[in-house]
Amino acid sequence: MPGNFCHFCLVVAVLSTAGLMCAASASAASGSSTTVVIDAGHGGHDRGGIPGQRIAEKEMTLDVAQRLKKVLAADGYRVVMTRENDVFIPLGTRAAIANSYRNAIFVSVHFNSAKRVGADGIETYFYGRDSLPLASAVHYFVASGAPSPNRGVRRRGYYVLRRARVPAVLVECGFLTNPTEAAYISNSSYRQKLADEIAAGIRERSNVRSSTSPMGAATIPLQSYIDQTKVSKSKRSRKKSSKSSKRKKKSRKSAATEANAMSDKKEA
Ligand SMILES: [Zn+2]
Repeated sequence: MPGNFCHFCLVVAVLSTAGLMCAASASAASGSSTTVVIDAGHGGHDRGGIPGQRIAEKEMTLDVAQRLKKVLAADGYRVVMTRENDVFIPLGTRAAIANSYRNAIFVSVHFNSAKRVGADGIETYFYGRDSLPLASAVHYFVASGAPSPNRGVRRRGYYVLRRARVPAVLVECGFLTNPTEAAYISNSSYRQKLADEIAAGIRERSNVRSSTSPMGAATIPLQSYIDQTKVSKSKRSRKKSSKSSKRKKKSRKSAATEANAMSDKKEA
């Protein structure tokens, strides 16, 4: 019996190893070794956008995030959502979720707003240099797949981007305050298209090459970007020099509020 037992053990061990190897290769083929943390901007009492805005940003971000989750899960990615319904999740928690997974990437979905109704277009933000390829790929697909103007890749110190220790991007998928873009975004097939394009960027992020790369022709060009970090810093230092109560209030503000305040400023 000991002999049979050992044989049995060996068979189990071989089968287990084979199983693990299959899992590993499937993982490599589908990209499922990466955890994609999808962050639907805003939620709960944080509606997103600007006062008086007709379409709630928090609803559109959640819808696109859920669509993105389905696409990526079908591709074999492990997907984690920072929120699955209409709840307020503090920005620190959102970043902490991203940081709690090894080999994760963080994709925050937002829609833009501005007092100037004519403001339109797609823009993608990153902060850390290692996030630029992901920002480039996501922006490349979303901007080229949308009828909206391309506002470019931008580097800015949004809270969730600064705090994430994994490649992290924030994509602004158009302006809800622009009647033309709001009409597009109100259409579910357009929101599905946005999710599909973001997913394509995630899938293709390792194929981003700079134009000077020895790889020759770029599969997806590493995007040049508008550096807005200095603007943010001067704004922050001005705020710091004001009353400390203001500073405390500011620290509780959501990133989205911060983002929208900046959008207003930018568009003013
Ligand atoms: Zn937002």
